[in-house]
Amino acid sequence: MFEQIERVPGDAILGLIEAFNKDPNPQKVDLGVGVYRDAQGVTPIMRAVKKAEALLLKNETTKSYIGSHGDPRYAKVVLPLVLGAESPVLAADRASATQSPGGTGALRLAADFVKTNLPGKGIWVSDPTWPNHLGIFQAAGIELHKYPYVDADNRLDFDGMLSALKQIPHGDVVVLHACCHNPSGFDLSREQWQQVLETVRERDLLPLVDFAYQGFGDGLDEDAYGARLMAENLDEVLITSSCSKNFGIYRERTGCLIAIAKNHEQMQNVRSQLAIVARENYSNPPAHGGSIVYEILESAELAAVWRDELTEMRNRINGLRREFVDALAPYGLDGQFAHVAEQRGMFSYTGLKPEHVDRLRDEYGIYLVRSGRANVAGLASENLPYVAKAIAAVVK
Ligand code: PMP
Repeated sequence: MFEQIERVPGDAILGLIEAFNKDPNPQKVDLGVGVYRDAQGVTPIMRAVKKAEALLLKNETTKSYIGSHGDPRYAKVVLPLVLGAESPVLAADRASATQSPGGTGALRLAADFVKTNLPGKGIWVSDPTWPNHLGIFQAAGIELHKYPYVDADNRLDFDGMLSALKQIPHGDVVVLHACCHNPSGFDLSREQWQQVLETVRERDLLPLVDFAYQGFGDGLDEDAYGARLMAENLDEVLITSSCSKNFGIYRERTGCLIAIAKNHEQMQNVRSQLAIVARENYSNPPAHGGSIVYEILESAELAAVWRDELTEMRNRINGLRREFVDALAPYGLDGQFAHVAEQRGMFSYTGLKPEHVDRLRDEYGIYLVRSGRANVAGLASENLPYVAKAIAAVVK
């Protein structure tokens, strides 16, 4: 039977990693991959995580199942992290967290939940968006639509976004990036979030807020502005939270789907459905990452270490954004790339065209996605002059 199966091309980003690894250029720079890198180019294990793991090794007493909603202790610490310790939503007991294998798992839970429990609802994603959004929602069998997000001049197209949201059929689901928009790096201002809220309310839409980079933009609470605005002002909201980036525990697959309902009773009904969705997908989520997050956030000492490390990562990225623009100034390109310093998160739509990207790769060993998306964390003070010189050569 397998003889009829065709081979599909591999993931473009994985292909990029392979090409980068094979490149003998000693000055090569990888701006493609989607993980945080420190100044030495490594994705480190955070000190707080190492300490939490040492505690777990000593104190963990069982490896039994943790249940379809995951570890309640993880839910207890992640809900205030995302919604805020003083959240009226938590006070009203109308939010539930279902632990999942990463933010990806949370998105799939949300998708299956919508498909089964809100039949006929379409889903709207930004154009562009994280490519896996398309795959996940289509795999769940939901009708997928796009709203504009970045214009032809490589700027946030908020007017285009808002007028598209105003046309969405009542009751459909709209995916919003909470912060650090992947792939563009363009985030909404507080005023723009307010306008989105009003439109969501007018059209009776269900927001699905994808929150994969809390703490990578401007701060843990600052980055939660949009998610909390939705949660506190609407009856029904879904939030997918990921601990992959902000705890640096990518491979532990740690995240959750937060479901907010009008009241406790309806939340419990939704929660009961989510248990079924989780069970049918993978039964129980992996436990280790959630235990790490719990150990850190439960300990004032470890939480302080973690916050410092996260601040260090965020400052490094935002510092590199400014240094990147400064490095282009001698070539008269600081104006053309000024948006890079304004964007937030790990990724930047640089505005480089596919032909620039090809030349950067072939002539300079600088690798980024053909859309012009760069992982800012792949830059370093040492490689910035080289990268700036190469960009100047290919764009002129
Ligand atoms: N949403 C977005 C926008 C992302 O960029 C990512 C990770 N690249 C995720 C969700 C999922 O992250 P994970 O499954 O690794 O937690």
